[in-house]
Amino acid sequence: MNTRSAAVAAVIEDLVAANRILARHGVLDGFGHVAARHPERPDRFLLSCSRAPELVSAADIMEFDLESNAQGSDARKPYLERFIHGEIFRARADVNAVVHSHSPSAIPFAASSVRLRPVYHMGSFLGAGAPVFDIRRHFGCTDMLVRNRAQGAALAAELGAEAVALMRGHGFVAVAASIPVAVYRAIYTELNAAAQQKAIALGGAITYLEPDEAACADEAIRGVSDRPWELWKREAFGRDG
Ligand code: MN
Repeated sequence: MNTRSAAVAAVIEDLVAANRILARHGVLDGFGHVAARHPERPDRFLLSCSRAPELVSAADIMEFDLESNAQGSDARKPYLERFIHGEIFRARADVNAVVHSHSPSAIPFAASSVRLRPVYHMGSFLGAGAPVFDIRRHFGCTDMLVRNRAQGAALAAELGAEAVALMRGHGFVAVAASIPVAVYRAIYTELNAAAQQKAIALGGAITYLEPDEAACADEAIRGVSDRPWELWKREAFGRDG
């Protein structure tokens, strides 16, 4: 743990920032988590021990293999739902960061036949609409948590090649090739969901971004993802951070 390289230390710094940023934006609270793939070992990922995200520091970050087993005889208590991350990293070689959230505006779409779709360019990563993972369809009656590899693998299969999957009666996952992009996708999943509910409440017909528009806008926004990240990271660590 004390022999980490500069590359690993940099990812851990961004992962700690991501925890604090997502807490500040109400995407994570006492629950939920964010993980990053290990920059030197693609068969490993980094995730805090079981702590509230706003309190996470570099010393809390644990290392797991893709079966979600803690490495280095680390006996700290891990998150129950670490299998979400392990199975998505296993299924998606293009994904290097995963956020799991229960944020309030996303929940109605996880419970409804109305799909979560992009109402503006900042939600463009939602594409043609986020898929919904229904754990009951695969595993019958559960406590709704993703507690093992089979449940994580079923969630990863529902996610497919998308950026976001909703989880019925639970929350969502947002994924990306980098921590900054996964963070803004998680934040804007919440904001797009809130805006979509307002559009629905207006009562008129809604014109969502078409899938071709969404693909163009997603590429454009990814190109400027450093801009909010610089701001959010500074806010998370204070003025000199
Ligand atoms: Mn959860």
